[in-house]
Amino acid sequence: MAIQKVMVIGAGQMGSGIAQVCAQAGYEVILNDMKDEFFERGLNTITKNLVRDVEKGRKTEEEKFAVLARITKSLTIEDAKDADIIIEAAVENMDIKQSIFKQLDEIAPKHAILATNTSSLPITEIAAVTKRPEQVIGMHFMNPVPVMKLVEIIRGLATADEVYETVAEMTKQLGKTGVEVNDFPGFISNRILLPMINEAIYALYEGVASKEAIDDVMKMGMNHPMGPLTLADFIGLDTCLSIMEILHEGLGDSKYRPCPLLRKYVAAGWLGKKSGRGFYIYES
Ligand code: NAD
Repeated sequence: MAIQKVMVIGAGQMGSGIAQVCAQAGYEVILNDMKDEFFERGLNTITKNLVRDVEKGRKTEEEKFAVLARITKSLTIEDAKDADIIIEAAVENMDIKQSIFKQLDEIAPKHAILATNTSSLPITEIAAVTKRPEQVIGMHFMNPVPVMKLVEIIRGLATADEVYETVAEMTKQLGKTGVEVNDFPGFISNRILLPMINEAIYALYEGVASKEAIDDVMKMGMNHPMGPLTLADFIGLDTCLSIMEILHEGLGDSKYRPCPLLRKYVAAGWLGKKSGRGFYIYES
């Protein structure tokens, strides 16, 4: 199937990035959010990224305008009626995602693919609320989307081969590398990354070393660009906790139990960079 029109649901951190890379690749993009201000915030982020690209000589002014001209505002899910693929990037909550997919199933054309950018929720369970589970798939972009090369392409239990092929081809068109993954908790990225972060939090909790020392060991000793505790602050400690809970519940193994210190920080509202305090303190 030839994809021309892409709808992105959610103009947040991830949705705005996905809309940008789709528009850059020449697709017509409908960018949807619940309120005008949320759409504008997403469009602002895209505009800032494009302005920086022009300043650095990576794009011309004309290219910047052409990318922006391919993005249309949407404040109603009814706009899915014109899309060939819908990529959902709303909040990480199963009830919200299932409600969106139920509506998309009613509204989107019969041929349309319904994709989700979930970081950890089961694709199969999201697909189960639709009458087209074979057309539901995971497209897990990495943050920040315009920079990061990888897309985990996750097959739900019922995902059809041709739907996988179409999404793999589109991923290539976006200039990204797709990696095929089956639908198990945390997929590959978060199944490996989050237990490492959780272990770093245990090391802090047990007094093995200071937060700075833990981050230094992983940065300088393992060549990680960022220490695990800094990375946790960037991802958001609430998100880290929710992914660990999904791994723990979904895989049933105690090795995935979230560290009590992580629970304590989340309960205190210390959510990382976005709340101004996590393992580290952030000005403004
Ligand atoms: P975000 O909070 O920045 O953005 C979510 C956006 O969705 C908000 O603008 C919100 O208004 C909008 N939204 C919520 N419900 C909606 C609805 N019913 N219809 C339309 N819009 C709606 O969150 P984010 O970090 O962009 O994450 C979005 C998704 O991407 C989540 O599923 C998350 O797990 C996943 N993800 C996040 C990251 C990351 O590093 N942040 C990485 C990969 C995947």
